[in-house]
Amino acid sequence: MSRIVMKFGGTSVADLDRIRNVANRVKKEVDAGNQVSVFVSAMAGTTDRLVGYVEGISPMHDAREYDTVVSAGEQITAGLLAIALQDIGVPARSWLGWQIPMRTNKVHSAARIEDIGTEELISRMEDGTVCVIAGFQGISEDNRITTLGRGGSDTSAVALAAAVNADRCDIYTDVEGVYTTDPRIVPKARKLNKITYEEMLEMASLGAKVLQTRSVAMAMSHGVRVQVLSSFTNKPGTMVVDEEEIVENQVVSGITYAKNEAQVTIVGVKNKPGIASDVFTLLADNNINVDMIIQNETEDGRKTDLTFTVPENDVEKSQEALKAASDIEFNNVITDENVVKISVVGVGMRSHAGVAATMFKTLADKGINIQVISTSEIKISVLIDAEYTELAVRALHTAYGLDVE
Ligand code: ADP
Ligand code: ASP
Ligand code: MG
Repeated sequence: MSRIVMKFGGTSVADLDRIRNVANRVKKEVDAGNQVSVFVSAMAGTTDRLVGYVEGISPMHDAREYDTVVSAGEQITAGLLAIALQDIGVPARSWLGWQIPMRTNKVHSAARIEDIGTEELISRMEDGTVCVIAGFQGISEDNRITTLGRGGSDTSAVALAAAVNADRCDIYTDVEGVYTTDPRIVPKARKLNKITYEEMLEMASLGAKVLQTRSVAMAMSHGVRVQVLSSFTNKPGTMVVDEEEIVENQVVSGITYAKNEAQVTIVGVKNKPGIASDVFTLLADNNINVDMIIQNETEDGRKTDLTFTVPENDVEKSQEALKAASDIEFNNVITDENVVKISVVGVGMRSHAGVAATMFKTLADKGINIQVISTSEIKISVLIDAEYTELAVRALHTAYGLDVE
């Protein structure tokens, strides 16, 4: 007998037939003698609609009320799944985040889970009840409903799996696992049987939305065995594992793209010690997350252009902060939101040379200009014109030998 946590994403619960399908999958685990808790997302499209309502009523809204609204979709699916399970003879009941409670900090719409009340859930599971829980939501110390950021039900599930010492956390979605790149834009993408926590963490944070980044970080730090698989087929999915469990490493395991970054260039900054510190301290003080950075001196060496990327939503804030900073002199600020960050990820990069060279040559052969580059031990990212996203991802996928035969 095992204790397992299952999570079903929005497309897996998109209509009543699919919810019945989910109930049947849960029943199989129960019939096999397992203790089961299930997290559900809102039905596909629901959360977007709720976000639209909030923005429609007031663009400058109270973040606490935003969470009250956007968390509502999961309540519906949790109740419906509990009913569907009862209908096929499986004892089940639903819980909302506050009823567990899933305690979080107060950072509305990006809250972090701090503590989970597990006692009742464990005793219910031991008694054979399936605990159906609304994902994505929690409660703050101020007794307000919080949400964990888009895609946050993954994190709800992994957090509970860690807290109740589950043997497995199965994340059911609309593709058969984690692929070498987004299978929706590269038909030749290959499903990975296994991927390391570290690579999955990089891929998620660099744009592969198949798992929310925080869920991977949490799985890694608590050693939760996460499997990503399809709710529509019966094929084995992808296991996220420690590096030792992978026998043979590909140099590159995956390619990602992220369209939500923008490029900012401060033109004609004085070239003197401390200027980069001033600029990036200013941005940090404004809670703006800077990612890639490049600096170019002018020929006479007196001035430089400082280029960096920030989340698309923070472009205006960055511009305003720079203009308001009287101690930073520059000619002007240029921004470009029409960019995409393409990354290649793989633990094999630690021991193989030439990965960057292949990337740059592949892009050059397609006539794609690289605007900014950044690297870490297991990834290389480049910023290019968004127009070339698919071309670049497909060409790199082929160049690193990842295409399915
Ligand atoms: P869910 O609603 O089940 O949480 P998501 O839409 O959040 O599903 O995540 C699944 C989607 O992630 C897939 O439909 C796929 O388009 C996308 N995706 C992006 N990169 C990858 C990848 N490397 N492997 C698998 N899926 C990916
Ligand atoms: N329903 C939420 C979203 O669409 C959370 C989730 O699906 O994980 O972002
Ligand atoms: Mg998701």
